[in-house]
Amino acid sequence: MTAPLAGDLLAIYDTLYAAFGHQNWWPAETAFETMIGAILTQSVSWANASCAIGNLEAAGLLDPEMLAGADTGDIARLIIPSRFYNQKAERIGEFAGIYIEEFQADPAVMAAMETDALRERLLDIRGFGKETVDSILLYACNKPVFVVDAYTRRIFSRYGFLPEKASYDRMQRLFADTLPPDVDLFNDYHAQIVRLGKTACRKSPLCDRCPIRVIGGSLRCAATLRQAPGSGADRLPGGR
Ligand code: SF4
Repeated sequence: MTAPLAGDLLAIYDTLYAAFGHQNWWPAETAFETMIGAILTQSVSWANASCAIGNLEAAGLLDPEMLAGADTGDIARLIIPSRFYNQKAERIGEFAGIYIEEFQADPAVMAAMETDALRERLLDIRGFGKETVDSILLYACNKPVFVVDAYTRRIFSRYGFLPEKASYDRMQRLFADTLPPDVDLFNDYHAQIVRLGKTACRKSPLCDRCPIRVIGGSLRCAATLRQAPGSGADRLPGGR
């Protein structure tokens, strides 16, 4: 495993951007919808989460006051497509109450809070893990916090930067300590990672269709080096 240089991570992003275009995340009309989406997409595809959001919207419940006052069972029935709907309904109702009481249901109030303090507060909410909280920080509050998910872990371990079992924090530091703290970059970089994970770097990778397999003829995914021994002319990530 070799630590990447900032140039490597930026080259990977630039290549993904050139291949896929800007991903325009997060697909939501309001910051609150983004927050609810971050809860609903836990352990489920975005398509399922999106369906649940559509149901909440159609029922007139995609609103902090409405969700805080709604019956948990009613919320659960509407978000069945998101799986674990009973748990998620409780989390959504609880979060809506906190959002009103502590942040005046105003994303600007939330975003004005110092990043580490806000992260700690959100992590204290029952059922809120690091990926959910960091998604809210980045996509709803425009904080320069890099979101790590299973695709990030899979792609960058295969690339040779970190072991696949590296902790969330270690994986996050890979980006946070190497890249400039740029909200727009972090926003689209994570979205590009998800796009690559869905289209090429699947559980069984489709390396032939991967835009970052080789970059500029010199930077190459370590997984492909293992697949093609003898191709040592290529530089490993990190400049080695
Ligand atoms: S070359 Fe293959 S293993 Fe490497 S990132 Fe692309 S799809 Fe994943």
